[in-house]
Amino acid sequence: MARTPGTVRQKLYRERHPDRVSAQQKSWREKNPDYHCQYDEAHRAEKDERQRKWAKNNPEKVAAHNAVRQALKDGILVRPITCEKCGSGGRICSHHEDYSKPLEVDWLCYKCHNRREFS
Ligand SMILES: [Zn+2]
Repeated sequence: MARTPGTVRQKLYRERHPDRVSAQQKSWREKNPDYHCQYDEAHRAEKDERQRKWAKNNPEKVAAHNAVRQALKDGILVRPITCEKCGSGGRICSHHEDYSKPLEVDWLCYKCHNRREFS
């Protein structure tokens, strides 16, 4: 008798017993309620790690961003509601042309900001 590969067997089983498969999946989820949370948790750690590395490699950028955040808080800088370049509204980000001048920023919408950062 020829052996049916496991993957094919599983596929056939799923096709023949869709109700059984979904019941199995449901019970698995009930037994592992934290699975998705743990998954997020693991990825958050990765993301934090990436940000930490970036911050370590870009101390002047971090300092500039912090300076802007603080200046916004103190009312030294005011975030405009429209993009300086195209005049559109939405989410406006500060853009540093020169990180050694942390409070000299352009205020750009995300589209113009992307264009600046990557050009
Ligand atoms: Zn714009």
